[in-house]
Amino acid sequence: MIAWQEAICPVCGGKFKYQKGGFRPMTCTKCVKIKEERMDTFWCCFVEGTGGFNKRHETEDDAKAEAERLARQPQNRGKCVYILQPIYFCQAEYVPVRFYRLKDIYEYL
Ligand SMILES: [Zn+2]
Repeated sequence: MIAWQEAICPVCGGKFKYQKGGFRPMTCTKCVKIKEERMDTFWCCFVEGTGGFNKRHETEDDAKAEAERLARQPQNRGKCVYILQPIYFCQAEYVPVRFYRLKDIYEYL
């Protein structure tokens, strides 16, 4: 029979269980999964003075090759080409949509 111990996840505050006497995970499995997904980083090239990025590069070498290509283009001569890596992400929470029956509101008024 396996004995379980409970711990509080420092990220989400949720309770999680781990095997007593065994390896104690730092966070709950849900937060570990989110961390793994978000740590799966990427790179983007940014040419100084231009509007933005277009491509997500999965490796640093890919990004460097693209940065070099961009730097060599005549319109980019003398401009810095930056290779950027994400630090933060944000996400708007799901906003629920509710239906109100007009009849109910009229009756309330
Ligand atoms: Zn958690």
